[in-house]
Amino acid sequence: MARNAHYDILFEPVKIGPVTAPNRFFQVPHASGMTNSMPRMRAGFREMKAEGGWGVVCTGYVSIHPSADDTPLPMAKLWDDADIRSHAMMTDAVHRHGSLAGVELFHGGGMVMNRTSRIAPMSPSGIGWMPPYANFMSHLRPRAMTRDDIADIRRWQADAARRAKDAGFDIVYVYGGMGYLPHQFLLPDFNRREDEYGGSVENRARFLRELLDVTRDAVGPDVAVATRISLEQLRARPGTVAETEAHEVIDILSDHVDLFDVKMDSGPIDCPPSRFRPEGSHEPVIDFVKRVTDKPVVGVGRFTSPDTMVGQVKRGVLDLIGAARPSIADPFLPNKIRNGHEDEIRECIGCNMCIASWHDGVPVRCTQNPSAGEEWRRGWHPERIAPKGLSDHVLIVGGGPAGLEAALSLGRRGYQVTVADAAAEFGGRLRFEAGLPGLRQWHRVIDYRLGRLSQMANVSLYTESNMDEEGILEFGADRVAVATGSRWLPDLMAVSETPGDLPRGPRVYTPSDIADGAEIEGPVAVFDYDNYYMGSAIAEYLRLKGKDVTYVSPAGHVSTWSIMSNDLPTVQERLLDRGVALRLLTRVTGFNGDTLQLADFMGGRPSDIACRSLVIIGRRQASDGLATALNARPDDLAAAGIRSVEAIGDAHAPGSIVHAVYFGRAYAEGLDGRSHADYRYDGPVLPDGLDGPVAARTTPNMRAVS
Ligand code: ADP
Ligand code: SF4
Repeated sequence: MARNAHYDILFEPVKIGPVTAPNRFFQVPHASGMTNSMPRMRAGFREMKAEGGWGVVCTGYVSIHPSADDTPLPMAKLWDDADIRSHAMMTDAVHRHGSLAGVELFHGGGMVMNRTSRIAPMSPSGIGWMPPYANFMSHLRPRAMTRDDIADIRRWQADAARRAKDAGFDIVYVYGGMGYLPHQFLLPDFNRREDEYGGSVENRARFLRELLDVTRDAVGPDVAVATRISLEQLRARPGTVAETEAHEVIDILSDHVDLFDVKMDSGPIDCPPSRFRPEGSHEPVIDFVKRVTDKPVVGVGRFTSPDTMVGQVKRGVLDLIGAARPSIADPFLPNKIRNGHEDEIRECIGCNMCIASWHDGVPVRCTQNPSAGEEWRRGWHPERIAPKGLSDHVLIVGGGPAGLEAALSLGRRGYQVTVADAAAEFGGRLRFEAGLPGLRQWHRVIDYRLGRLSQMANVSLYTESNMDEEGILEFGADRVAVATGSRWLPDLMAVSETPGDLPRGPRVYTPSDIADGAEIEGPVAVFDYDNYYMGSAIAEYLRLKGKDVTYVSPAGHVSTWSIMSNDLPTVQERLLDRGVALRLLTRVTGFNGDTLQLADFMGGRPSDIACRSLVIIGRRQASDGLATALNARPDDLAAAGIRSVEAIGDAHAPGSIVHAVYFGRAYAEGLDGRSHADYRYDGPVLPDGLDGPVAARTTPNMRAVS
């Protein structure tokens, strides 16, 4: 199909200093969780985006020195010449497709805890980050940097930049945002220095400017120099010679960079879940940059619509359309627009499971794209899959995320596929969940798959088709996947932190009951020991229906796991704004239909509140009954010509949608083929001579830093 001429502008080359991006699609640096310890997986992950048409593909943040040690968060490094080969795998892979490779050199200053290197962290004035979340806390405070420290960091930056050039990168960044060291110099909250690095904007920008200059000197004339800079707080501070300090900083740095990559100040705002912020939410903060500089500007906004992208360029907001999440969800987004197939874009849903995987310290996972991170080790491709094996016809019972992903992947393999769902519409759990406040975009998981499936001649889709054992035996498929989901159970939580007794009173519900249409009488308590989005979403949903709602959780925060997905800082505020009462660090111990008995989670001190209904968001049980029953009838299966019956998705193991989609893909990959439990092992590229258990080598550029 021909490309829509309106989108031609997105395929114009853009000059970035001495290099030229072949188009405006720019995969900005984002962590992949793979680091130097999984260099082949990393190269495979980034290469897929180059293959899919991204003109620039960057690797994740790369530490310049052991004093910038962000562990256990998975950072890459260029501490040593021995690290070069590991990164060269990625640049070679990206260059194979004619794309530019970028690297974001990083020093975290007082934002990193140096947990592995055990070097005292440094910051401009000895001020560190004091997050109230255990995963990010440390008890070691940074020391104030001396001029010698500043000189050291310039040197380390130059060394790392030279290594980046040797590794084949075309664009080398200085990371000046997100509270990392150069950003700490820019912000008076962190920078209370009285020397030439503190005070005026010009002084506070000096450190970043110097890092850019040493980078330029180190990489020479053929490599572009970029900075990624956070502008939220700077934009809120009035300037002395321009409108705001952000305007002044961009102006000061403009002659020292080839590219500005502009963003917000903190993860939850910079990379917010779609539950709380829409596409393009950065614009009010970054819209001025192009008016101040003539250097190209890249920025993000979870852009998936080509019309929005064209608007950003035509309105003079951005020159390059930056993406992290949309490029994970669909590495082939640019090529789909290029070829006139924009309706086939697998749009990011903004769930932030990808970010949660970084916080977990593991390779990236994506709800929409189950092949993300599996390109090299499992050989999965987001658009292609191996042709079918011996089997012919697969019946999939259940058309939720798992069933539809299995159907899509099996359909692509060339099997005859039938999906039967009991409900009037496909979608499974998302029929209900995408209707909860803020979760509408999650329905893209279903929309994308149904859109593709409806075009496939070898796939038949049936709704209102409740399947039982006899119906499946009679159907005539030779393989059966049971994707019938799971149900929430109304157990309370025992002292042992395992599911406990059932409450005895009436009007006890679960999310499954509400999805089935249960009417809830207020006042209602929502007891959440699942700790992800469901508890807070149900509490907000019921509150919006006018009920008096109390949210109860044994955790210390609302939806406490959602610190991993960047929801947590907003979610509690949202419930309070809506008028939901909170009882945190509290367990429900009983309910009689009028009174809810509670106990402090730690000490057990009892209390109670009046309420008429209780909704329990605790554990789920796989609805795998069909698979279990059929597998207990091997003779009947053999007589029916059915070679296997397998539970997949939540019916296999209840989880988040990311897990269901992954299991759907794994089933399709494994049919007549290799099990997903069987994958290639990646390992670090070791320095020469460092292949035994004992190494005498030290990092050569270490000064004695206390
Ligand atoms: P997953 O997340 O694993 O995809 P979901 O709970 O989202 O699971 O979807 C399960 C789907 O299975 C639902 O749409 C439900 O209507 C359907 N389903 C459950 N039991 C049957 C059955 N016996 N026959 C057909 N469809 C069923
Ligand atoms: Fe988007 Fe979710 Fe995939 Fe991240 S995990 S890229 S937020 S769909």
